[in-house]
Amino acid sequence: MKNGIHPQSHDVEARCACGNTFRTRSTKSELHLEICSACHPFFTGRQKLIDTEGRVERFTKKFGAQTVAQRKTVADAAKAAKAKAVRIAKAAAKAAAATA
Ligand SMILES: [Zn+2]
Repeated sequence: MKNGIHPQSHDVEARCACGNTFRTRSTKSELHLEICSACHPFFTGRQKLIDTEGRVERFTKKFGAQTVAQRKTVADAAKAAKAKAVRIAKAAAKAAAATA
């Protein structure tokens, strides 16, 4: 490290709004965080949606819950219905050919 060009580095205890603390190094003398790895939804796996106007609820009411699993079920059902329709059409064509 070259002298006189780097800011002062401190050992600090970072404090999160959730109450979690951890030690790190920073050029600031103290660190206050709103979110950390102990409370961020990505790490906890819990979804925390801030929905003050009920928009999510309204969407769910109008279109139904949209999850990957649900969409897959709907797609599978559509595929099965199409396959059945093709089978019926083939059977009808076969029957028509037999009677002709
Ligand atoms: Zn936190």
